[in-house]
Amino acid sequence: DFLSGLDNAGVRDADTQRVLHSWSAQSTLKPLPIAGGLGSTVWDHDGRHYLDFSSQLVNVNLGYQHPKVVAAIQEQAAQLTTIAPAAANATRAEAARLILERAPEGFEKVFFTNGGADANENAIRMARIATGRDKVISTYRSYHGNTGAAIVATGDWRRIPNEYARGHVHVFGPYLYRTEFWATTPEEESERALRHLERTVQAEGPTSIAAILLETVPGTAGILTPPPGYLAGVRAIADRYGIMLILDEVMAGFARTGEWFAFDAFDVRPDLITFAKGVNSGYVPLGGVIVSEHIARVFDEQVFPGGLTYSGHPLAAASVVATLTAMAEEGVVEHAKAIGADHIGPALRSLAERHELIGEVRGSGVFWAVELVEDRDTRAPLDAAAMGRFKSYLLEAGLLPFISENRIHVVPPAVVTADEVASGIAIIDAALDELRA
Ligand code: PLP
Repeated sequence: DFLSGLDNAGVRDADTQRVLHSWSAQSTLKPLPIAGGLGSTVWDHDGRHYLDFSSQLVNVNLGYQHPKVVAAIQEQAAQLTTIAPAAANATRAEAARLILERAPEGFEKVFFTNGGADANENAIRMARIATGRDKVISTYRSYHGNTGAAIVATGDWRRIPNEYARGHVHVFGPYLYRTEFWATTPEEESERALRHLERTVQAEGPTSIAAILLETVPGTAGILTPPPGYLAGVRAIADRYGIMLILDEVMAGFARTGEWFAFDAFDVRPDLITFAKGVNSGYVPLGGVIVSEHIARVFDEQVFPGGLTYSGHPLAAASVVATLTAMAEEGVVEHAKAIGADHIGPALRSLAERHELIGEVRGSGVFWAVELVEDRDTRAPLDAAAMGRFKSYLLEAGLLPFISENRIHVVPPAVVTADEVASGIAIIDAALDELRA
């Protein structure tokens, strides 16, 4: 048996010799060999345990190996492991029903994808066809996925309605701590970011713009909770110019912010919602687009020119059904909100009182960012070498962190306990002491 008897070094060697890793130069990689996991903890092949404050790529919202989700995947596997998207499938239909149950009124259909990137691809496709327009406005400091060429390389009719990987326009969104707008209050930041957006719409030509695509709360870019009025203001601009609003809930959705959808905490309603990650904690790859009624109508008579071999894959659909059911039964969304408000937030703020290195703490639920700075007045980001040392201390002490630029994102599974929060934050506390020493 290939796996038996392998230790960390063996797994790491076997992996790095043949697996090409994402976003990295390969020669210096030392990936952590993960053997198993349960709840908010994972362990390696040498028996070391790590408290996971990253949820991997901020997707394991329900924690590792939830027994009901594992059982649902096993049951579906025993019944039917795969079926084409063109077939009707009961598990897929139930997954769609449960997702729509969480969406606001007026959302009618779900298009399933393999993950977040192709969810955004398809939402953009829908907005372009629904409006007959081309351009898409999104923000600097965002991440929407890693695709863009396959359909344009395609050599049959499907390329023709999809030759649109062009016309992408970027604006700055609100980020008061590092404001692009010389703002001093959240209200000012909001107002000026909206003016910048509207002026960009006007300058680009409103009738050329199909969609505004935003992460409801930009995640990888720094967990930038929008200031009061911003999302409602974007909605108003979209309405004024006949533009579709796509909210990317891939990272922020399904309990991450302490809501089912992050936008539930704001006065805004999108035309299209994209999701992935938390919808099934990534147990089986799946994402999708939730389509509002008026866009769904467009495809009643007109062909929807999009599709994927594994759209609505039964194993993935079974994991969605079990995840959303477990989340509701176990009050996971409410737990995420409370653990953020009562434990993570207060603990991080208390760290900020004791450590000069912390420039700002922001977030909600199980979605927090801590900015580390050289100097609180200049807000100069802590450099990469120091962040590297910080990450090593944390791993050494048994905490799996999510580090991005000069920030640590505190993004544990939504089922993390108060005790786990306390022990994880104690490790961060000690690492900050070591960093200054
Ligand atoms: N959108 C957001 C907000 C994300 O954070 C990500 C992934 O991190 C994506 C889209 C892309 O998702 P995927 O990697 O599943 O394609």
